Amino acid sequence: MGDMYRLVISGELVDAASGETFESIDPSTGEPFAAVAKGGQEDARRALHAARRAFDQGPWPRMKGRERAGFLLKVADLVKQHAGELADLEARDGGHTIRMAKGADIGMVISTFRTFGELAAREDDERSLPRNPGSTNWVRYEPMGVCAAITPWNFPIQMAAWKIAPAIAAGNTLVIKPASYTPLTTLEIGRLCLEAGIPEGVVNVLPGPGAPAGEELVSSPMVDKVAFTGSTEVGRRIMELASANITKCTLELGGKSAAVVLDDVDIDYAADGALWGVFFHSGQVCSAGTRLLVQRSILDELLAEAVKRADAIRVGSARDPASDVGPVISGTQLETIEGYVAIGRQEGADILVGGERAVVEGHDGGYFFKPTILGGVRNDMKVAQEEIFGPVLVVIPFDDEDDAVRIANDSMYGLAGGVWSSDNARAVKVAERLRTGTVWINDWHMINPRYPFGGYKQSGLGREHGEIGFNEYREIKHIHLDLGGPSRARHPWWDLTVPRREPSMTAGAEPAGAATPGADTPGSKPGG
Ligand code: NDP
Repeated sequence: MGDMYRLVISGELVDAASGETFESIDPSTGEPFAAVAKGGQEDARRALHAARRAFDQGPWPRMKGRERAGFLLKVADLVKQHAGELADLEARDGGHTIRMAKGADIGMVISTFRTFGELAAREDDERSLPRNPGSTNWVRYEPMGVCAAITPWNFPIQMAAWKIAPAIAAGNTLVIKPASYTPLTTLEIGRLCLEAGIPEGVVNVLPGPGAPAGEELVSSPMVDKVAFTGSTEVGRRIMELASANITKCTLELGGKSAAVVLDDVDIDYAADGALWGVFFHSGQVCSAGTRLLVQRSILDELLAEAVKRADAIRVGSARDPASDVGPVISGTQLETIEGYVAIGRQEGADILVGGERAVVEGHDGGYFFKPTILGGVRNDMKVAQEEIFGPVLVVIPFDDEDDAVRIANDSMYGLAGGVWSSDNARAVKVAERLRTGTVWINDWHMINPRYPFGGYKQSGLGREHGEIGFNEYREIKHIHLDLGGPSRARHPWWDLTVPRREPSMTAGAEPAGAATPGADTPGSKPGG
């Protein structure tokens, strides 16, 4: 076996309390290549204590934003310096093609740390509120405390950056649990955070099984904020566990995103774009455009082009630069995908291309599936409603924009959507009617750490990225400073200790302050 990876707790690389380890498997070969310390409940508690100490007593939350920013920029530089090794590790551990790992993954990690570094450096943690006679008021953004982050296996290194960067930029400390299939690059990012000089206990990395390690994290009263990305089913469980302590949650969950192709589109462009939208990373992307809605008049022409292109996609080992798509994550996932294709067939869908495992020479043990397009699909079929998380596209025709919008929105999910059209104004009208957190027009997978990302409906709660995502990691405090000072006449509504006046309110009379919009009046619910 190759290398041994340890937990990152309180600034040190440590074994699990139980001494147990688990194997990390290369999905291109099906072979284990690294051993990883297996964090359990006791390790989760140890990591949380470290994060709690670092928050309550350490320098991190008390630093100026611009000082913290310096550390985030240092992490970005270290990731850049180690780009080659990290990309190779992501290809091996997560099955990301080396092209994608070097380009999309590492680039996104660097820009995420830089973006949140910039947001921290703005030092905008106090903002004035509208002026008021008699008082001055402002909001203060403060760190929340200890964050527990749980991430999935599809984009491990990006997810690590998406969770760690905003949490620590805002002054929090955190414990992150990567998915058991793909723990390695998150551990490496944790190590680079230490190398960058981020104080001990601020970033702790705890690979280990969802239950018990993950459940211990989200249920703990030591935790102030939970950030989860993964399936809707587990998201529901996380929310339930976090509710015991009313711990704030952001959840980024599943999707079944619709790509609407209007009849004025450039067919070549839309065919390329639609395949990019669904087959990138073998379709193991929450925001993949897995439902292709095509205006009936161009259905045959578009499908012919899409099928031809899908058939030409090279499926191969993730570490081979010639591979367009790599393996799926596991044998279990491969079986799930096969199961869905079989269900689609039973439901009456036609397999237009793919529909079976791919054979990759020299990689008999790898988990490869051919890019697959299912025609003859209705939106009420299981393959059109459920997240398959593999390279499977379902195609559904529509008659006009109303029909397209109705079908696109007929889903329990609302993560992303898209419109392909040569007419921007027409496309924007459709985009505005889609009930999803992101809509791409003539593009797909453009996620930028400056712009918010997250879901409507059962695709999640809250947003990641940008200022909106940054604020999901900050508490908002309103401070009210009365400007009268100690000599000021007491407010008329302090009627507990001040000699009571004759009631001034008669039926229909205005309460004090009502004549001045926004003037200070007692809260309707003093004391909360
Ligand atoms: P999960 O939602 O099960 O896993 C995501 C993360 O949650 C992992 O770190 C996992 O740990 C952890 N976890 C699992 N159970 C619990 C729990 N009870 N308490 C706390 N943490 C928990 O995704 P899977 O990997 O099992 O994939 C299943 C399906 O989910 C996929 O087929 C796909 O449809 C969907 N999915 C969606 C993703 C998205 O981004 N929308 C991402 C990944 C999957 P561990 O790895 O140890 O189980």
